[in-house]
Amino acid sequence: MAKVLIIGAGGVGQVVVHKCAQLPEVFSEIVLASRTVAKCEKIAQQVEQQYGRKIETAAVDADNVPQLVDLINQVKPFMVINVALPYQDLTIMDACLEASVHYLDTANYEPLDSAKFEYSWQWAYQQRFADAGLMALLGCGFDPGATNVFTAYIAKHYFDEIHYLDIIDVNGGDHGYPFATNFNPEINIREVTAECRHWENGEFVTTPAMSTHQSFTCPEEVGRFNIYRMYHEELESLTKHFPTIKKAQFWMSFGESYLKHLEVLGNVGMTGIEPVEFNGQQIVPIQFLKALLPDPSTLGPRTHGKTCIGCVVRGVKGGEEKTVYLYNVKDHQDCYREVQSQAISYTTGVPAMISASLMIKTQWMQPGVWNIEQMDPDPFMAAMNQYGLPWKVIEEPGFDLI
Ligand code: NDP
Repeated sequence: MAKVLIIGAGGVGQVVVHKCAQLPEVFSEIVLASRTVAKCEKIAQQVEQQYGRKIETAAVDADNVPQLVDLINQVKPFMVINVALPYQDLTIMDACLEASVHYLDTANYEPLDSAKFEYSWQWAYQQRFADAGLMALLGCGFDPGATNVFTAYIAKHYFDEIHYLDIIDVNGGDHGYPFATNFNPEINIREVTAECRHWENGEFVTTPAMSTHQSFTCPEEVGRFNIYRMYHEELESLTKHFPTIKKAQFWMSFGESYLKHLEVLGNVGMTGIEPVEFNGQQIVPIQFLKALLPDPSTLGPRTHGKTCIGCVVRGVKGGEEKTVYLYNVKDHQDCYREVQSQAISYTTGVPAMISASLMIKTQWMQPGVWNIEQMDPDPFMAAMNQYGLPWKVIEEPGFDLI
Protein backbone atom coordinates (compact mmCIF):
# COMPACT_ATOMS: atom_id res chain seq x y z
CA MET A 1 0.00 0.00 0.00
CA ALA A 2 1.35 3.44 -0.86
CA LYS A 3 0.53 7.11 -1.02
CA VAL A 4 0.80 8.67 -4.49
CA LEU A 5 1.04 12.26 -5.66
CA ILE A 6 -0.62 12.76 -9.05
CA ILE A 7 0.37 15.97 -10.87
CA GLY A 8 -1.97 17.23 -13.62
CA ALA A 9 -5.76 17.49 -13.38
CA GLY A 10 -6.66 17.25 -17.08
CA GLY A 11 -8.40 14.48 -19.02
CA VAL A 12 -5.75 11.88 -18.20
CA GLY A 13 -5.32 13.00 -14.58
CA GLN A 14 -9.04 12.50 -14.00
CA VAL A 15 -8.86 8.87 -15.16
CA VAL A 16 -5.71 8.11 -13.16
CA VAL A 17 -7.35 9.45 -9.98
CA HIS A 18 -10.54 7.42 -10.59
CA LYS A 19 -8.64 4.20 -11.32
CA CYS A 20 -6.30 4.60 -8.33
CA ALA A 21 -9.32 5.36 -6.13
CA GLN A 22 -10.86 2.04 -7.22
CA LEU A 23 -7.88 0.22 -5.67
CA PRO A 24 -7.50 1.33 -2.04
CA GLU A 25 -5.54 -1.87 -1.29
CA VAL A 26 -2.73 -0.52 -3.51
CA PHE A 27 -3.20 3.26 -3.47
CA SER A 28 -3.91 3.87 0.19
CA GLU A 29 -3.79 7.68 -0.12
CA ILE A 30 -4.08 9.91 -3.20
CA VAL A 31 -3.10 13.56 -3.50
CA LEU A 32 -3.93 15.43 -6.71
CA ALA A 33 -2.02 18.63 -7.50
CA SER A 34 -2.18 20.86 -10.56
CA ARG A 35 -1.83 24.46 -11.68
CA THR A 36 -5.58 25.16 -11.32
CA VAL A 37 -6.67 23.75 -7.98
CA ALA A 38 -10.38 24.09 -8.88
CA LYS A 39 -9.91 21.30 -11.46
CA CYS A 40 -8.40 19.06 -8.75
CA GLU A 41 -11.32 19.80 -6.45
CA LYS A 42 -13.85 18.92 -9.15
CA ILE A 43 -12.22 15.52 -9.67
CA ALA A 44 -11.97 14.98 -5.89
CA GLN A 45 -15.73 15.63 -5.61
CA GLN A 46 -16.52 13.11 -8.37
CA VAL A 47 -14.35 10.50 -6.66
CA GLU A 48 -15.89 11.08 -3.25
CA GLN A 49 -19.40 10.77 -4.71
CA GLN A 50 -18.56 7.67 -6.74
CA TYR A 51 -16.33 5.68 -4.35
CA GLY A 52 -16.66 7.45 -1.00
CA ARG A 53 -12.91 8.16 -0.95
CA LYS A 54 -11.39 11.48 0.07
CA ILE A 55 -8.69 12.84 -2.25
CA GLU A 56 -6.45 15.64 -1.02
CA THR A 57 -5.78 18.46 -3.48
CA ALA A 58 -3.10 21.12 -3.87
CA ALA A 59 -2.04 23.90 -6.23
CA VAL A 60 1.41 23.62 -7.76
CA ASP A 61 3.36 25.18 -10.59
CA ALA A 62 5.18 22.17 -11.96
CA ASP A 63 7.63 24.39 -13.86
CA ASN A 64 9.00 25.48 -10.49
CA VAL A 65 11.33 22.92 -8.85
CA PRO A 66 11.44 24.47 -5.32
CA GLN A 67 7.59 24.56 -5.25
CA LEU A 68 7.46 20.93 -6.32
CA VAL A 69 10.05 19.89 -3.73
CA ASP A 70 8.10 21.67 -0.96
CA LEU A 71 4.91 19.91 -2.03
CA ILE A 72 6.55 16.47 -2.24
CA ASN A 73 8.21 16.94 1.16
CA GLN A 74 4.88 17.93 2.64
CA VAL A 75 2.90 15.05 1.04
CA LYS A 76 5.67 12.43 1.42
CA PRO A 77 4.38 10.12 -1.34
CA PHE A 78 6.00 6.86 -2.46
CA MET A 79 5.98 8.19 -6.02
CA VAL A 80 4.85 10.98 -8.31
CA ILE A 81 2.60 10.15 -11.26
CA ASN A 82 3.22 12.93 -13.78
CA VAL A 83 0.20 13.54 -16.02
CA ALA A 84 0.79 17.26 -16.51
CA LEU A 85 2.34 18.26 -19.85
CA PRO A 86 5.58 16.99 -21.45
CA TYR A 87 7.15 20.42 -20.76
CA GLN A 88 7.16 19.60 -17.04
CA ASP A 89 8.92 16.20 -17.21
CA LEU A 90 12.40 17.45 -16.32
CA THR A 91 11.38 19.79 -13.50
CA ILE A 92 9.30 16.99 -11.93
CA MET A 93 12.18 14.52 -12.33
CA ASP A 94 14.54 17.06 -10.69
CA ALA A 95 12.13 17.50 -7.80
CA CYS A 96 11.71 13.73 -7.37
CA LEU A 97 15.48 13.34 -7.12
CA GLU A 98 15.75 16.17 -4.60
CA ALA A 99 12.88 14.89 -2.46
CA SER A 100 13.83 11.21 -2.94
CA VAL A 101 10.65 9.73 -4.47
CA HIS A 102 9.98 7.53 -7.51
CA TYR A 103 8.68 8.95 -10.81
CA LEU A 104 6.38 7.87 -13.66
CA ASP A 105 5.08 9.68 -16.77
CA THR A 106 3.12 9.10 -20.00
CA ALA A 107 4.86 11.38 -22.53
CA ASN A 108 8.48 12.26 -23.19
CA TYR A 109 10.02 15.64 -22.52
CA GLU A 110 9.45 18.34 -25.09
CA PRO A 111 10.95 21.84 -24.84
CA LEU A 112 8.29 24.56 -25.03
CA ASP A 113 10.12 26.54 -27.72
CA SER A 114 10.85 23.78 -30.26
CA ALA A 115 8.37 21.12 -31.35
CA LYS A 116 10.86 18.31 -30.89
CA PHE A 117 10.45 15.33 -28.67
CA GLU A 118 13.09 12.74 -27.91
CA TYR A 119 14.21 10.66 -24.95
CA SER A 120 17.80 11.96 -24.72
CA TRP A 121 16.96 14.55 -22.04
CA GLN A 122 15.28 12.00 -19.78
CA TRP A 123 17.72 9.15 -20.45
CA ALA A 124 20.46 11.54 -19.24
CA TYR A 125 18.99 11.13 -15.72
CA GLN A 126 19.81 7.37 -15.66
CA GLN A 127 22.87 7.58 -13.38
CA ARG A 128 21.34 10.06 -10.95
CA PHE A 129 18.21 7.96 -10.42
CA ALA A 130 20.25 4.74 -10.16
CA ASP A 131 22.66 6.29 -7.62
CA ALA A 132 19.75 7.57 -5.54
CA GLY A 133 18.09 4.12 -5.54
CA LEU A 134 15.04 5.66 -7.26
CA MET A 135 13.08 4.51 -10.28
CA ALA A 136 11.79 6.68 -13.15
CA LEU A 137 9.48 4.82 -15.51
CA LEU A 138 8.86 6.61 -18.82
CA GLY A 139 6.00 6.54 -21.31
CA CYS A 140 3.30 4.65 -19.39
CA GLY A 141 0.13 5.69 -21.28
CA PHE A 142 -1.32 3.72 -24.20
CA ASP A 143 0.97 4.89 -26.98
CA PRO A 144 3.62 5.16 -25.71
CA GLY A 145 2.88 2.69 -22.95
CA ALA A 146 0.64 -0.27 -23.67
CA THR A 147 1.93 -0.44 -27.28
CA ASN A 148 5.51 -0.78 -25.97
CA VAL A 149 4.44 -3.57 -23.63
CA PHE A 150 2.43 -5.23 -26.43
CA THR A 151 5.64 -5.29 -28.51
CA ALA A 152 7.66 -6.75 -25.61
CA TYR A 153 4.95 -9.34 -24.93
CA ILE A 154 4.76 -10.41 -28.58
CA ALA A 155 8.58 -10.60 -28.78
CA LYS A 156 8.71 -12.68 -25.59
CA HIS A 157 5.92 -15.16 -26.33
CA TYR A 158 5.61 -15.45 -30.12
CA PHE A 159 9.03 -14.90 -31.74
CA ASP A 160 12.73 -15.74 -31.66
CA GLU A 161 13.41 -12.43 -33.38
CA ILE A 162 11.13 -9.53 -34.39
CA HIS A 163 11.80 -7.67 -37.67
CA TYR A 164 8.85 -5.42 -38.60
CA LEU A 165 6.65 -3.36 -36.28
CA ASP A 166 3.55 -1.35 -37.19
CA ILE A 167 1.76 0.43 -34.36
CA ILE A 168 -1.78 1.28 -35.46
CA ASP A 169 -3.84 3.75 -33.45
CA VAL A 170 -7.43 4.09 -34.65
CA ASN A 171 -9.93 6.35 -32.97
CA GLY A 172 -13.29 5.45 -34.46
CA GLY A 173 -15.05 7.82 -32.04
CA ASP A 174 -17.12 10.85 -33.05
CA HIS A 175 -17.68 13.80 -30.69
CA GLY A 176 -19.88 15.74 -33.11
CA TYR A 177 -17.60 18.81 -33.28
CA PRO A 178 -16.14 19.78 -36.70
CA PHE A 179 -12.71 20.04 -35.01
CA ALA A 180 -11.54 19.05 -31.55
CA THR A 181 -8.60 17.07 -30.19
CA ASN A 182 -8.95 14.14 -27.83
CA PHE A 183 -6.07 15.18 -25.61
CA ASN A 184 -4.30 18.43 -24.92
CA PRO A 185 -4.75 20.37 -28.23
CA GLU A 186 -1.34 22.02 -28.11
CA ILE A 187 0.54 18.73 -27.61
CA ASN A 188 -1.69 16.92 -30.11
CA ILE A 189 -1.24 19.49 -32.90
CA ARG A 190 2.52 19.79 -32.33
CA GLU A 191 2.74 16.00 -32.66
CA VAL A 192 0.56 15.71 -35.77
CA THR A 193 2.17 18.57 -37.69
CA ALA A 194 5.73 17.39 -36.98
CA GLU A 195 7.75 15.83 -39.84
CA CYS A 196 7.20 12.09 -40.12
CA ARG A 197 10.06 9.79 -39.13
CA HIS A 198 10.04 6.02 -39.33
CA TRP A 199 12.78 3.48 -38.66
CA GLU A 200 14.23 1.62 -41.63
CA ASN A 201 17.49 -0.35 -41.90
CA GLY A 202 19.20 1.12 -38.87
CA GLU A 203 18.18 4.78 -39.18
CA PHE A 204 15.26 7.17 -39.03
CA VAL A 205 13.94 8.19 -42.46
CA THR A 206 12.23 11.59 -42.67
CA THR A 207 9.21 12.31 -44.89
CA PRO A 208 6.74 15.25 -44.90
CA ALA A 209 3.96 15.19 -42.29
CA MET A 210 0.90 13.15 -43.33
CA SER A 211 2.40 12.26 -46.72
CA THR A 212 1.85 8.48 -46.47
CA HIS A 213 -1.42 6.82 -45.71
CA GLN A 214 -3.30 3.58 -46.28
CA SER A 215 -6.62 2.02 -45.42
CA PHE A 216 -7.00 -0.30 -42.42
CA THR A 217 -9.91 -2.49 -41.37
CA CYS A 218 -10.12 -2.90 -37.60
CA PRO A 219 -11.32 -6.14 -36.01
CA GLU A 220 -14.60 -6.45 -34.09
CA GLU A 221 -16.49 -4.28 -36.58
CA VAL A 222 -14.86 -1.05 -35.37
CA GLY A 223 -14.73 -0.05 -39.04
CA ARG A 224 -12.42 0.82 -41.92
CA PHE A 225 -10.24 3.92 -41.58
CA ASN A 226 -7.54 5.91 -43.33
CA ILE A 227 -4.38 5.69 -41.23
CA TYR A 228 -1.49 8.16 -41.66
CA ARG A 229 2.15 7.50 -40.94
CA MET A 230 3.64 9.86 -38.37
CA TYR A 231 6.47 10.02 -35.87
CA HIS A 232 5.68 8.81 -32.38
CA GLU A 233 8.10 8.71 -29.50
CA GLU A 234 7.93 4.97 -28.80
CA LEU A 235 9.67 4.32 -32.12
CA GLU A 236 12.87 5.71 -30.58
CA SER A 237 12.90 3.52 -27.48
CA LEU A 238 11.52 0.36 -29.11
CA THR A 239 14.11 0.33 -31.91
CA LYS A 240 16.81 0.84 -29.27
CA HIS A 241 15.58 -1.93 -27.00
CA PHE A 242 14.67 -4.35 -29.82
CA PRO A 243 17.66 -3.89 -32.15
CA THR A 244 16.54 -6.73 -34.46
CA ILE A 245 13.71 -4.47 -35.75
CA LYS A 246 14.42 -3.60 -39.40
CA LYS A 247 11.43 -1.35 -39.97
CA ALA A 248 9.12 0.35 -37.45
CA GLN A 249 6.23 2.65 -38.31
CA PHE A 250 3.47 4.40 -36.38
CA TRP A 251 0.05 4.98 -37.93
CA MET A 252 -2.89 7.03 -36.68
CA SER A 253 -6.40 7.42 -38.08
CA PHE A 254 -7.73 10.88 -38.93
CA GLY A 255 -11.08 11.90 -40.35
CA GLU A 256 -11.40 14.21 -43.34
CA SER A 257 -12.86 17.06 -41.29
CA TYR A 258 -9.96 16.95 -38.81
CA LEU A 259 -7.37 17.02 -41.61
CA LYS A 260 -9.12 19.81 -43.54
CA HIS A 261 -9.32 22.02 -40.43
CA LEU A 262 -5.71 21.30 -39.55
CA GLU A 263 -4.56 22.21 -43.06
CA VAL A 264 -6.44 25.51 -43.01
CA LEU A 265 -5.30 26.37 -39.48
CA GLY A 266 -1.70 25.58 -40.50
CA ASN A 267 -1.98 27.66 -43.67
CA VAL A 268 -3.15 30.73 -41.77
CA GLY A 269 -0.49 30.32 -39.08
CA MET A 270 -2.76 29.27 -36.19
CA THR A 271 -0.65 26.20 -35.35
CA GLY A 272 2.60 28.18 -34.99
CA ILE A 273 4.62 28.00 -31.78
CA GLU A 274 6.53 31.29 -32.22
CA PRO A 275 5.01 34.29 -30.37
CA VAL A 276 3.40 37.02 -32.50
CA GLU A 277 2.61 40.53 -31.37
CA PHE A 278 -1.09 41.39 -31.19
CA ASN A 279 -2.40 44.68 -29.70
CA GLY A 280 0.84 45.13 -27.77
CA GLN A 281 0.74 41.58 -26.38
CA GLN A 282 2.85 38.53 -27.24
CA ILE A 283 0.57 35.66 -28.26
CA VAL A 284 1.61 32.11 -29.23
CA PRO A 285 -0.91 31.12 -31.96
CA ILE A 286 -1.21 27.45 -30.93
CA GLN A 287 -1.85 28.45 -27.31
CA PHE A 288 -4.57 30.87 -28.41
CA LEU A 289 -6.08 28.11 -30.58
CA LYS A 290 -6.12 25.81 -27.52
CA ALA A 291 -8.17 28.41 -25.67
CA LEU A 292 -10.78 28.35 -28.49
CA LEU A 293 -11.08 24.58 -28.87
CA PRO A 294 -13.27 22.32 -26.75
CA ASP A 295 -11.51 21.12 -23.57
CA PRO A 296 -10.79 17.39 -24.20
CA SER A 297 -12.00 16.54 -20.70
CA THR A 298 -15.52 17.73 -21.73
CA LEU A 299 -15.80 15.38 -24.73
CA GLY A 300 -16.78 12.32 -22.66
CA PRO A 301 -20.58 12.59 -22.73
CA ARG A 302 -20.74 13.32 -26.49
CA THR A 303 -18.16 10.86 -27.87
CA HIS A 304 -19.57 7.67 -29.40
CA GLY A 305 -17.72 4.82 -31.11
CA LYS A 306 -14.62 2.82 -30.29
CA THR A 307 -10.85 3.03 -30.25
CA CYS A 308 -8.74 0.18 -31.62
CA ILE A 309 -5.02 0.40 -30.84
CA GLY A 310 -2.50 -2.35 -31.35
CA CYS A 311 0.75 -3.66 -32.80
CA VAL A 312 1.38 -5.77 -35.88
CA VAL A 313 4.69 -7.59 -35.60
CA ARG A 314 6.43 -9.71 -38.22
CA GLY A 315 9.44 -11.87 -37.41
CA VAL A 316 10.69 -15.43 -37.20
CA LYS A 317 9.97 -18.34 -34.89
CA GLY A 318 11.78 -21.66 -35.34
CA GLY A 319 13.03 -20.48 -38.73
CA GLU A 320 9.48 -19.72 -39.98
CA GLU A 321 8.23 -16.21 -40.84
CA LYS A 322 5.02 -15.20 -39.05
CA THR A 323 2.82 -12.19 -38.22
CA VAL A 324 1.04 -11.43 -34.94
CA TYR A 325 -1.48 -8.65 -34.21
CA LEU A 326 -2.21 -7.71 -30.58
CA TYR A 327 -4.82 -5.03 -29.89
CA ASN A 328 -7.37 -3.52 -27.54
CA VAL A 329 -10.80 -2.20 -28.53
CA LYS A 330 -12.44 0.27 -26.14
CA ASP A 331 -15.87 1.88 -26.31
CA HIS A 332 -15.97 5.63 -25.54
CA GLN A 333 -19.34 5.45 -23.79
CA ASP A 334 -18.26 2.52 -21.58
CA CYS A 335 -15.39 4.72 -20.38
CA TYR A 336 -17.72 7.61 -19.76
CA ARG A 337 -20.07 5.47 -17.70
CA GLU A 338 -17.17 4.21 -15.57
CA VAL A 339 -14.99 7.28 -15.00
CA GLN A 340 -16.77 10.20 -16.77
CA SER A 341 -14.10 10.43 -19.53
CA GLN A 342 -13.76 9.49 -23.18
CA ALA A 343 -11.61 6.55 -24.28
CA ILE A 344 -8.45 8.49 -25.20
CA SER A 345 -8.00 9.70 -21.63
CA TYR A 346 -9.14 6.30 -20.33
CA THR A 347 -6.74 4.26 -22.44
CA THR A 348 -3.89 6.55 -21.26
CA GLY A 349 -4.83 6.68 -17.59
CA VAL A 350 -5.38 2.97 -17.01
CA PRO A 351 -1.87 1.87 -18.12
CA ALA A 352 -0.41 4.68 -15.95
CA MET A 353 -2.32 3.35 -12.92
CA ILE A 354 -1.27 -0.24 -13.71
CA SER A 355 2.40 0.73 -14.08
CA ALA A 356 2.34 2.65 -10.79
CA SER A 357 0.73 -0.34 -9.06
CA LEU A 358 3.47 -2.66 -10.38
CA MET A 359 6.13 -0.28 -9.02
CA ILE A 360 4.37 -0.15 -5.65
CA LYS A 361 4.05 -3.95 -5.51
CA THR A 362 7.80 -4.05 -6.42
CA GLN A 363 7.13 -6.29 -9.43
CA TRP A 364 8.65 -3.53 -11.55
CA MET A 365 10.86 -1.80 -8.99
CA GLN A 366 14.35 -1.17 -10.31
CA PRO A 367 16.51 1.94 -9.67
CA GLY A 368 17.35 3.98 -12.77
CA VAL A 369 15.45 5.46 -15.72
CA TRP A 370 13.56 2.90 -17.79
CA ASN A 371 11.21 2.71 -20.70
CA ILE A 372 8.21 0.55 -20.01
CA GLU A 373 9.16 -2.16 -22.57
CA GLN A 374 12.26 -2.92 -20.47
CA MET A 375 10.02 -4.36 -17.74
CA ASP A 376 8.52 -7.89 -17.70
CA PRO A 377 5.35 -7.49 -19.82
CA ASP A 378 3.41 -10.37 -18.21
CA PRO A 379 2.04 -8.74 -15.02
CA PHE A 380 1.06 -5.62 -16.99
CA MET A 381 -0.79 -7.66 -19.62
CA ALA A 382 -2.67 -9.58 -16.90
CA ALA A 383 -3.63 -6.29 -15.23
CA MET A 384 -4.87 -4.82 -18.54
CA ASN A 385 -7.44 -7.62 -18.70
CA GLN A 386 -8.41 -7.04 -15.09
CA TYR A 387 -8.72 -3.23 -15.06
CA GLY A 388 -10.70 -2.36 -18.17
CA LEU A 389 -8.46 -2.77 -21.21
CA PRO A 390 -8.76 -6.41 -22.33
CA TRP A 391 -6.68 -7.37 -25.35
CA LYS A 392 -6.69 -10.04 -28.03
CA VAL A 393 -4.12 -11.69 -30.27
CA ILE A 394 -4.69 -12.65 -33.90
CA GLU A 395 -2.01 -14.81 -35.45
CA GLU A 396 -1.63 -14.39 -39.22
CA PRO A 397 -4.22 -11.55 -39.47
CA GLY A 398 -3.74 -11.37 -43.24
CA PHE A 399 -3.17 -7.59 -43.36
CA ASP A 400 -1.47 -6.20 -46.41
CA LEU A 401 0.33 -3.20 -44.86
CA ILE A 402 2.71 -0.83 -46.70
P1 NDP B 1 -4.69 18.31 -20.30
O1 NDP B 1 -4.25 19.55 -20.97
O2 NDP B 1 -6.13 17.94 -20.30
O3 NDP B 1 -4.20 18.33 -18.79
C1 NDP B 1 -2.92 18.76 -18.40
C2 NDP B 1 -2.98 19.16 -16.94
O4 NDP B 1 -1.67 19.56 -16.54
C3 NDP B 1 -3.92 20.33 -16.69
O5 NDP B 1 -4.64 20.11 -15.53
C4 NDP B 1 -2.95 21.51 -16.53
O6 NDP B 1 -3.36 22.52 -15.68
C5 NDP B 1 -1.78 20.80 -15.88
N1 NDP B 1 -0.59 21.61 -16.05
C6 NDP B 1 -0.11 22.15 -17.19
N2 NDP B 1 0.98 22.89 -16.93
C7 NDP B 1 1.17 22.81 -15.60
C8 NDP B 1 2.12 23.36 -14.71
N3 NDP B 1 3.13 24.15 -15.13
N4 NDP B 1 2.01 23.09 -13.39
C9 NDP B 1 1.02 22.30 -12.93
N5 NDP B 1 0.10 21.74 -13.72
C10 NDP B 1 0.18 22.00 -15.03
O7 NDP B 1 -3.81 17.12 -20.93
P2 NDP B 1 -4.17 15.57 -20.96
O8 NDP B 1 -4.73 15.17 -19.65
O9 NDP B 1 -4.89 15.29 -22.20
O10 NDP B 1 -2.70 14.96 -21.10
C11 NDP B 1 -1.86 14.80 -19.96
C12 NDP B 1 -0.54 14.16 -20.39
O11 NDP B 1 -0.79 12.87 -20.93
C13 NDP B 1 0.21 14.93 -21.49
O12 NDP B 1 1.59 14.89 -21.18
C14 NDP B 1 -0.06 14.14 -22.74
O13 NDP B 1 0.97 14.28 -23.69
C15 NDP B 1 -0.10 12.75 -22.16
N6 NDP B 1 -0.83 11.79 -23.02
C16 NDP B 1 -0.24 10.58 -23.25
C17 NDP B 1 -0.87 9.66 -24.05
C18 NDP B 1 -0.28 8.30 -24.22
O14 NDP B 1 -0.97 7.42 -24.72
N7 NDP B 1 0.94 8.05 -23.83
C19 NDP B 1 -2.16 9.94 -24.71
C20 NDP B 1 -2.75 11.20 -24.30
C21 NDP B 1 -2.08 12.10 -23.51
P3 NDP B 1 -4.43 23.66 -16.13
O15 NDP B 1 -5.73 22.97 -15.96
O16 NDP B 1 -4.20 24.77 -15.20
O17 NDP B 1 -4.11 23.99 -17.58
